[in-house]
Amino acid sequence: MREKLVVVTHPLVQHKLTLMRSKDTPTGQFRQLLREVGLLMLYEATRDLPLEAREVETPLVRMQGRALSGKKLCFVPILRAGLGLVDAMLELVPSARVGHIGLYRDPATLAAVQYYLKLPEDISSRLAIVCDPMLATGHSANAAVRRLKESGADAIKFICLVAAPPGVELMQAEHPDVTIYAAAVDERLDEHAYIIPGLGDAGDRLFGTK
Ligand code: URA
Repeated sequence: MREKLVVVTHPLVQHKLTLMRSKDTPTGQFRQLLREVGLLMLYEATRDLPLEAREVETPLVRMQGRALSGKKLCFVPILRAGLGLVDAMLELVPSARVGHIGLYRDPATLAAVQYYLKLPEDISSRLAIVCDPMLATGHSANAAVRRLKESGADAIKFICLVAAPPGVELMQAEHPDVTIYAAAVDERLDEHAYIIPGLGDAGDRLFGTK
């Protein structure tokens, strides 16, 4: 299967990401920027959704319009930083369902430990779009996608802002069927698995917890 990584180079995305990277960007602005980038990333991630012809009556004539025809969507934020993306995504697709996966990083092993999982019952018939601003080691993303597959999902995409090579490599090795959408692929991870240059801890910056 072809490995898929889409780096979204749209100027608005790149500009907003640069603002988010600045250590001087305060929490409120960071949160707003994350919303805005989330919306633009979803726009890219839904570019290939299938359409069907649908007749519509305008105030003047009948015409053949086009409407979404494929699987319905489910957004799956990885807690907690993924929450910063999901509200904006719901603005674009208000009818989408939302599942939640809570994973924390064991500080000793860096392994992803699940503490919460709630998915819609019909997840197997939906396109699941997992979101987390940072794809660092890839352990959380890998665990989230594995859990979704165990729950029956067979159409999955992954949206992040900043990816690091180890995370991309792990995801492509474990889940070559999952397209990754990122605004940037940064250089490397530091010894604490933070992305360099990155933007710091996305959850702390989003919620102002540090
Ligand atoms: N998670 C974050 O929030 N930031 C990183 O740099 C890596 C993982």
